[in-house]
Amino acid sequence: MGGYRLIGHPLGHSMSPQIHERLFALEGRADSYTLFSFPPKELEAQIPVLRGLDGFNITIPYKQAILPYLDSLDDSAALYGAVNTVRMQGGRMTGYNTDCDGFLRTMQAHRFSLQTSVCVAGAGGVGRMFAIEAVRQGAELTIAVRDPAKGQALAQEIGERFGCPVQVSPLDALDRPFGLIINATPVGMSPKTGVSPLPKSVVAQAGAVFDCIYNPRETRLLQDAREAGVPAAGGMEMLVWQAAVAHEIWHGSRFSSAQIDPLVGEMNALLDQKAGRPDA
Ligand code: NAP
Repeated sequence: MGGYRLIGHPLGHSMSPQIHERLFALEGRADSYTLFSFPPKELEAQIPVLRGLDGFNITIPYKQAILPYLDSLDDSAALYGAVNTVRMQGGRMTGYNTDCDGFLRTMQAHRFSLQTSVCVAGAGGVGRMFAIEAVRQGAELTIAVRDPAKGQALAQEIGERFGCPVQVSPLDALDRPFGLIINATPVGMSPKTGVSPLPKSVVAQAGAVFDCIYNPRETRLLQDAREAGVPAAGGMEMLVWQAAVAHEIWHGSRFSSAQIDPLVGEMNALLDQKAGRPDA
């Protein structure tokens, strides 16, 4: 069978096939990448199909559910307890998590340092990864949430694991400058655009802002940052970089910013086109 797929449910209008096909082209390969959506009760029955692929990516709701079926885990997946990329080698499935590298490569591309005061808004799946990675890189971390109990639970986990103090704040009570603000909530995401998870006054005092939302490309949070002259980056770069890192794992390729930046632009343009066609 072979080929590459994204598994998840539902998959909607995922941009993954377009991103991966462009990455195959950059590698000079003629492989195929398709969406493969099935309901959770079918996961076990689909494992033989997945074993027949050359590799696959995983999104919600299978990032953790796939763990019992894998033969081994890379450190990246073990650290976050979630897998988004599987490499096949001699019929063995190894799980990786490339969201983290996608995030770090995006920070590097913008020269956004994590060795500063970092505010992560949101404490869900991706927020947990940003928070852990920020601390691993030496950040002084604040987790900003709407539900303090969820923020406290993550702060305690990180504090115990890495031996560092972690602040927790309600989102609407933030009032200090941060070296870097990261949005890991879906606030501002299409179709509910035009809203920001953070007060404008806090955004204006930040050293830099990263919004992991990629649809729309220019969220209210990014607009607030740019209006205040604060360097800002959106989530499409992370989305493209995490896909590129999957190819680096599958094929030993290595991509440069000079290759990835135009692809990010292309995907943003595709998104704008789709936004102009509500039925797309
Ligand atoms: P998740 O696990 O559902 O976590 C969402 C977090 O946002 C939770 O802390 C949640 O708080 C908070 N939240 C939700 N609605 C909120 C609201 N109205 N006000 C304040 N906080 C709110 O989701 P996730 O998987 O981490 O994804 C979060 C966002 O990241 C999504 O927009 C997703 O598209 C984006 N993302 C982007 C990339 C990329 O490559 N660019 C990768 C992964 C995710 P409660 O627990 O209180 O609900």
